[in-house]
Amino acid sequence: MPLYTAEALILRTYKLGEADRIVVFLTRDRGKKRGVARAARRSRVRFGAGLEPLTRADVAYFEREGRDLVWLNYAELVQSPFRACGEAALAYVGYFAELLDESAPEGDPSERLFRLGASMVDALAVGVPVRPLARYFEYWLLRLQGVYPSHLRCSCCGARFDEAAGAWLLPGDREFRCPPCAVAGGERGVPVSREALAFLAGASRVPPERLEELPCPERAGRELQAAHRALITVHLERELRSVRVLTDMGEY
Ligand SMILES: [Zn+2]
Repeated sequence: MPLYTAEALILRTYKLGEADRIVVFLTRDRGKKRGVARAARRSRVRFGAGLEPLTRADVAYFEREGRDLVWLNYAELVQSPFRACGEAALAYVGYFAELLDESAPEGDPSERLFRLGASMVDALAVGVPVRPLARYFEYWLLRLQGVYPSHLRCSCCGARFDEAAGAWLLPGDREFRCPPCAVAGGERGVPVSREALAFLAGASRVPPERLEELPCPERAGRELQAAHRALITVHLERELRSVRVLTDMGEY
């Protein structure tokens, strides 16, 4: 059985039998893996706090020929997202982890996806505000999946949005349109103001730890939340479990 060591992000765990856990984790080099952590529910010696969702960890695992499930040997905490988190931030941690899990097919490594996830953990750990960070994460995640529409120009007439009074997102068509083109098409979609478009333009340039430099007025944040939720629902063809938790907390 070959032993692999890797930088990883823990996505989720669930119970297996009396004492074990199944751990879903995203490695930097070999994509998403699903492994058995033996006795993880009885003893915290080998896994400690390394199995909490969205933890950055150094892991070692054995792969078994012809089997999808690996054996997790250890998971050593590198960075926890929980350092300065309130209750809302905890719910967002679950949301980020679920989005990463849904976006990472098994056996298809993407170092960019790993780096995006890892940068979210680091940003949370240094106290970057979680709501703008969530909009930033959704934006980049959908971009890496190739499903984020161009937010610079109208998909119909080509007019640049920064000269216009906002735009409309048509999630089913994955297009942003200027107001006249949206009206002409008979579909209004989700409104996105000029300030929200400015946030997106900034998010395409700024690393997450510098997100506080980007203005994100509350209204713009809410517009992007609605726009991204619509895009994610169309892309995944369902709503995420963690969105229901956020909704119950009044975050959505
Ligand atoms: Zn147009």
